[in-house]
Amino acid sequence: MIRVLNIIEDTMVDGPGFRTSIYCAGCGHRCPGCHNPQSWAFDGGREMSTAELLKIVMDDPFANVTFSGGDPMYQAAGFAELAQAIHAQSQKDIWCFTGFTYETLIHDDQRELLEHVDVLVDGPFIRALHDPDLLFRGSSNQRLIDVPRSLYAGHVVLWQPGNILPTDVSPCLSPHLHGS
Ligand code: SF4
Repeated sequence: MIRVLNIIEDTMVDGPGFRTSIYCAGCGHRCPGCHNPQSWAFDGGREMSTAELLKIVMDDPFANVTFSGGDPMYQAAGFAELAQAIHAQSQKDIWCFTGFTYETLIHDDQRELLEHVDVLVDGPFIRALHDPDLLFRGSSNQRLIDVPRSLYAGHVVLWQPGNILPTDVSPCLSPHLHGS
């Protein structure tokens, strides 16, 4: 189960192309300047099952998928199950926005979700580093990380447009924009 605040279909602001964006409830980072503090409550929204969310995602044959919030990494087990099901049934790529850094996530229980994500937009929003011209993120500390390549290389590899590897080859605000 995942606590969901909102689902926006065919959005173009949470990653490249048309996407189904799932906004979850709950974030503990409390970044000053956060665009979406109403998403911080962990008891917000409503619980939805993986099957319900999968159906919404798969009903759109063209849109890719974004997990956002709140912070999906606080509900990593549920999102990992959903991501695994999406990749088992489609070629859709999955972007995930989080206030945690990649370096934290690879050593934590949340790695389970990380391993099923194609691109991670990581790190807290830092108001002093806010730049409205940044692509898909709010402050310059945040990175667009190609997760399969990073796991394979053993260090962070930044995402380049058109450079997605399927996650199964890896070893192992607009509405959000994390603060902008
Ligand atoms: S900017 Fe993102 S990570 Fe930071 S408090 Fe807001 S929702 Fe959480």
